[in-house]
Parts: sequence; C-alpha cells; structure tokens
Amino acid sequence: MSKTGCLFFSLLFSATAGSAVPEVKVLIAKSLKNIIVEGVDLQKRIHTQNRSQQYHGRKRIAFNCAPARSAVRQTFPRSPLLVASLSSPTGLISWGDQKYKGELQLLTNPAKESCDLVNLVPMEAYLTTLLAKEMNGTWPVEALKAQAVAARTYAFDRLKRGMGLESDDRLYHLESSEKDQVSGSVRDVTPNTVQAARETEGEILMGPSGRVAPAFFHAKCGGKTLRPDQVWGGVEEGYRSVTCSFCGKTGMKDWRYRLRGQKLTSMVDQVLRRYYADETSGTDVRLMPDSLHNSELRLYVGDRLHIIKKSYLRSLAGRETLPSNNFIMTAKNKDFIIHGAGNGHGVGLCQLGALELAKRGYDYRQILSYYFPRHKLKKAY
Ligand SMILES: [Zn+2]
Repeated sequence: MSKTGCLFFSLLFSATAGSAVPEVKVLIAKSLKNIIVEGVDLQKRIHTQNRSQQYHGRKRIAFNCAPARSAVRQTFPRSPLLVASLSSPTGLISWGDQKYKGELQLLTNPAKESCDLVNLVPMEAYLTTLLAKEMNGTWPVEALKAQAVAARTYAFDRLKRGMGLESDDRLYHLESSEKDQVSGSVRDVTPNTVQAARETEGEILMGPSGRVAPAFFHAKCGGKTLRPDQVWGGVEEGYRSVTCSFCGKTGMKDWRYRLRGQKLTSMVDQVLRRYYADETSGTDVRLMPDSLHNSELRLYVGDRLHIIKKSYLRSLAGRETLPSNNFIMTAKNKDFIIHGAGNGHGVGLCQLGALELAKRGYDYRQILSYYFPRHKLKKAY
C-alpha cells in the first residue's frame, strides 16, 4: 500500500465546543466478600444510611460484604444497591495493590451475596489505563491513539445508552473484561498511554448517519476484518470488511484444528438450537465447499441443508479451540479440518495491523480510516 495512495480517506472532523469530560462507571471486580480500601484524606459516603465521613491523613477502611448467616434474606437486597462510595480529593485510592483515580463504589451483588466494586472515573483517565491492557503501553503513540478513539467510542456508546442496557438494575456502564473492554489501574499508565489519550481527547467515531456506533477492535484479523453482522448478527452501520496485510507477520501464528465428524454433528446441533431455534435430524454431516470469503458454513445433516455462522461455532467451541472467526473448513475422510488465521472476533480495528501501520509512519487518523472507512471522527466533548 502506498502511503500517498487513495486507500486512505481523510476523516471528516467536526468539532463541538469543549464540554466537560464525562465520567464512566466501570465494574472492576465482582463477588468480593471483603473489601479494603486505603488512601489519604478519604471521603466516605454510606448511601444506605445517608451518612458521610471525612478522614484526615492516611486511612484504611474495611468492608465486610458477607451477609450475616442468621438473616441472609433480610439483610441482602434483591437488586444491586449502591452501599458506599469513597474518594480522595488529594490523591488516589488503593484497593489491594492497585491504585485508582476518581471514586470507588461498593455495590451489593445479590446473586453472589457479596459486593462488586465499581470505579467512577473520568473517561480520559480510564483510557490511560485501558490502553496498556487492551494494547500495550510501550507501543507507538499513533497506534495507541487509534485504540484510544476506538475504546472511547465504545465506552461513550455505553455511557449514552445508560446503565439499564442489559438488566434494569445494573449500576455501571461497562465492565473491565473481555465482555466490554479491559482497563487497568493507575499502575498500568505509561507516558505513551497518557499522550495517546490527551492528544485524542474527546474524539470518537460516528457512523455515516452521525450516530455513535460502538467501535470494535480485536488483536489480529489474520488477513481481513469482518462486519458486525457477519459475527454477531446485529447490524451496525458503517462497517466494511477490509483486507489487512499488516498483521500477518506478528502475533499468533496461523492455526489448525481437527474435528471428528461426530463431534461436528453434535456442535452443529447445539449451534442450531442455541442460535437458530432449530435442530439437526441426522448424523452424517456433509460440508459444502467453504472459502475464506464465507462467514457462514453450509452443510447438510441428513438431507437438510443448514447454514450456520462460523462465529457461532467459535462461540460454542471456545476461543482457545478456535482463536478467530477467520477460518476455512475442509472435509478429510471422516474428519473436518479447520485452518484459521488471526486472534479475536475480527471486527473493526486490527490491533497488530495498527501497530504495523504506526511503525510505517501512518498517523492515527489514517489507521482509523483504514479499518473504519465509512466512519467519521468527531469531538464529542
Ligand atoms: Zn489485520
């Protein structure tokens, strides 16, 4: 690809008058029985008793989240409840060996009769820790900036949707896990992650209609990216599958997995039941010719043709078994061989591709416009 070629469209940039950096509530730990936080000049608010307390100097505060044995049902609320929040106006708050900016909030976790820990943190501070976890704090700044915009867009989308997205009683916007995106603590921050967040402050990606759409990313596409509908079924506007020749030499090597015919039959049956409200009516699987362009497998079980998404097979098999959705299946005697490339779901920004592009001198706007060719960059605050 030529650096001056027409593959890169310059991202349209629209600025909004500067407004405050939003704060995001991130679930950082689940099902804790005991929580000990520490900090200087801590402010403690016990919401359940409408009581506040200000400490001076260094203070260590312990919370016991295990319910009293004799009165579990009476003491443990059925819905998550904000019990306490702690902040330090002069510094950071420690939990275990991690340090956090912003506020730590204790929520009850009714299912596990324990506590969850949430960090209420300004978006930009959140991103300085996330970049070290989702990418690598030592990577080139332009790659980190592309990641910062993608991760900010994802978090901003969750923020806009509010906290009732998956269950009405959820008291946070997103969790620090592969379910959403992984963030860290102040200990993970590096000069590069700080610079990447600062130099893209407030910038997010918008779909062609001007709507904020979640900007997905993954470790390594293995040759081409995928659209959200090819992987999850839902349609997100603006996405295209793009070829990527930049991640091939780094990261996970191409992989191979062998499936017994019987095993594939059983997996196809499970995929049909779980995702298609259908089931198989036979035992012999015959695979129609597959190619890397196909995001679906076409196979006969008995005399019925079934079309199933490769990504659903991966969901069932697990990420260790099928590291990516970028694979091709062939029949060999009574077995099936899966040859794959890449690591991760394959949608949106390819991180190892971004790394390579940054090393070649491309800036973050060019990197983003390659993986999100129809999205526009916007300053949201
Ligand atoms: Zn790639």
